[in-house]
Amino acid sequence: MTEQPFELALSARTAEMLDACTQCGKCVEICPVTGPAGVGDVTPKAVMAGVFDIVRLGEGPAASKAWAKGCALTGDCIAACPEGVNPRFLLAMARVTMAKQSTELRARRKQGIDNFRLVADGVNVLSRMQLDDDELARLGQQVTDRLQNGSTVTPGVRPDFVFYTGCNVLKTPHMALYALDIMDALGVTYRSWAVRPIAAA
Ligand code: SF4
Ligand code: SF4
Repeated sequence: MTEQPFELALSARTAEMLDACTQCGKCVEICPVTGPAGVGDVTPKAVMAGVFDIVRLGEGPAASKAWAKGCALTGDCIAACPEGVNPRFLLAMARVTMAKQSTELRARRKQGIDNFRLVADGVNVLSRMQLDDDELARLGQQVTDRLQNGSTVTPGVRPDFVFYTGCNVLKTPHMALYALDIMDALGVTYRSWAVRPIAAA
């Protein structure tokens, strides 16, 4: 199958990082999840060398696979790397490679769709447990015909900012609402926009 531009860019970024990494193992040393993930007593350098094997060859030692699977995305390793490499990204690429090895394309696509639906359901449930319709509308969620997307300007007037929230912030909506409160206090006009409207109850 021909690689798409996104995949080519991803491959190029991965190759750059593999070139820059010296396999010093500092990122493994600093990582808070190596113990719970089951990396064991394998040396940090060997764990990182194993990540290279997974990314380049599609297969690697169990300790490196465990580290990649157990990554909790904290980002501690990024600051620890003296070469400016993003180890978290390399682990994500290792997980992609492992997924490619373990399931065929059709199953991976179905899994991706299922996982996305799971996230969407979580956003719907958690946001509705915390917010009423007016608050959802304020965050750009047009939940009924009656309510308009959150905006402090009249239709057709250009606001100072478009407040783009994505959807995941709706799991912790107090942060976005605080931001709107601050803009209100400053007299800044805005229009809230979300990645997709949440389903009406
Ligand atoms: S990513 Fe950075 S910290 Fe980790 S092994 Fe490579 S050079 Fe060292
Ligand atoms: S981002 Fe992942 S690999 Fe990096 S320190 Fe956090 S848990 Fe460890």
